[in-house]
Amino acid sequence: MKPISPETLAPPDAGQRRAVAPVICYPVETLPKPDLAAYRAAREGWRKTGELRVPARDAASFTVPAGHFFRITSVEGPQVGDLNLWNANNLAERFYSGKTRALHGTHLSTGDRMWTSHPYLRPMATITQDTLDWYGFDGFGGAVHDVIGTRCDPYTHNLLSHGGQYHHCCHSNLTRALADARGLSLPEAEGYVHDVLNVFMCTGFTRDTGQYFMKASPVRPGDYLEFFAEIDLLGALSACPGGDCSAEHSSDAAACYPLLVEIFAPKAAPAGWVPPPLNGYDQSHGR
Ligand SMILES: [Zn+2]
Repeated sequence: MKPISPETLAPPDAGQRRAVAPVICYPVETLPKPDLAAYRAAREGWRKTGELRVPARDAASFTVPAGHFFRITSVEGPQVGDLNLWNANNLAERFYSGKTRALHGTHLSTGDRMWTSHPYLRPMATITQDTLDWYGFDGFGGAVHDVIGTRCDPYTHNLLSHGGQYHHCCHSNLTRALADARGLSLPEAEGYVHDVLNVFMCTGFTRDTGQYFMKASPVRPGDYLEFFAEIDLLGALSACPGGDCSAEHSSDAAACYPLLVEIFAPKAAPAGWVPPPLNGYDQSHGR
């Protein structure tokens, strides 16, 4: 955190330096744009091919073929979900939260994509509907569906609680779900678990100290976030032990609810859609 009383004296031109206007690091105008109208038209007459309930304080996995849709829906009560996505055919290609944040901002909504890790860096899923898009940014700078948090995990909990052992953090839930899905040992699976899309979670950075904050999610039963799978996906979703994340996580204190995942097959692929190719960089890195 920045010191309240800095040790270093501000230079005479400090005001001028601070007044320089920011530029966007990654203007996204040159990215291939998803044809949202075509994606949405493909929902007409789609067929539900599967559904699962993620139990409270636990995780479950699912697969979505490229060209299909999936929805994460709040049921029973306000609940936050931590989402991991992998290329179903190559676990090394997984969701890249940091680059997605750099491209689309701190919180995702309709039309944003979830991008994969290096050296693949391509869209793996596109958000096609967000019933919480009305929320925008609140007076605290909070918004939903963040890519700024990581996932609650037992290691951070251990540090902050002076040795506490808690086994149902999203990190552990996702680890067990991936181990079960792929027949991996827990240490093997843990290495593939990565920073999440915090579905329905309401978060931001405090204006004074820049600290990561959370507040009660505005999600209500019936709200959903809908995705189009750009590539074959393996997903794992954890129903966070923080529940609506209004008070605490990494414990059994919060009221927690299940989450519903549904998978839909369209009658035909969206008009003009082709699966995204691997990234075109030649990987020679100057050699
Ligand atoms: Zn969590």
